[in-house]
Amino acid sequence: MAKLYFYYASMNAGKSSTLLQTAFNYGERGMKVSLWTAALDDRPGFGAISSRIGLASDAHRYEADTDIEARVLDEHKDTPLACVLVDEAQFLTRDQVWQLARLADEAGIPVLCYGLRTDFQGELFPGSAALLGIADALVEMKAVCDCGRKATMNLRVDANGKAVSEGAQTEIGGNDRYVAMCRKHFSEALEG
Ligand SMILES: [Zn+2]
Repeated sequence: MAKLYFYYASMNAGKSSTLLQTAFNYGERGMKVSLWTAALDDRPGFGAISSRIGLASDAHRYEADTDIEARVLDEHKDTPLACVLVDEAQFLTRDQVWQLARLADEAGIPVLCYGLRTDFQGELFPGSAALLGIADALVEMKAVCDCGRKATMNLRVDANGKAVSEGAQTEIGGNDRYVAMCRKHFSEALEG
């Protein structure tokens, strides 16, 4: 029975590296996988999956209206897929998460999703909420706060390194960056 997996974490826990390593392992055995990431940026070089340790791979990009199920079934018809790997899974819509669930249940293709659990305000992303709700397996990946505790939160900081508490859930093309922190230090950073 194929399963729908959700590997969730804060920033910098190695989600993309793990995804790409998994893709590499299948490829090494001559098995085909389908790679997906969110189409948040149209600039060249963006949209591919890359990791901080230097691994990178091209991938299909999904938008909110992409029928991932139909596209994957098309691919699967030509050469059977060993699995589907989805990066930036926090940006999936609820419908797309159900599409992925059907790929596991009806087409028998394992689906591995990797994404952030929460945004810079500690709120679940839509894709993460749906995955936490219906995935067969939830796997937490761990990043580390400067204090040594597990980093579960994503602090948004502006160009000057100052904590940001308000704004859109996703700032595309902004200068903001994110720092993975434990909850205690996340709260202190927002209060400071
Ligand atoms: Zn900490």
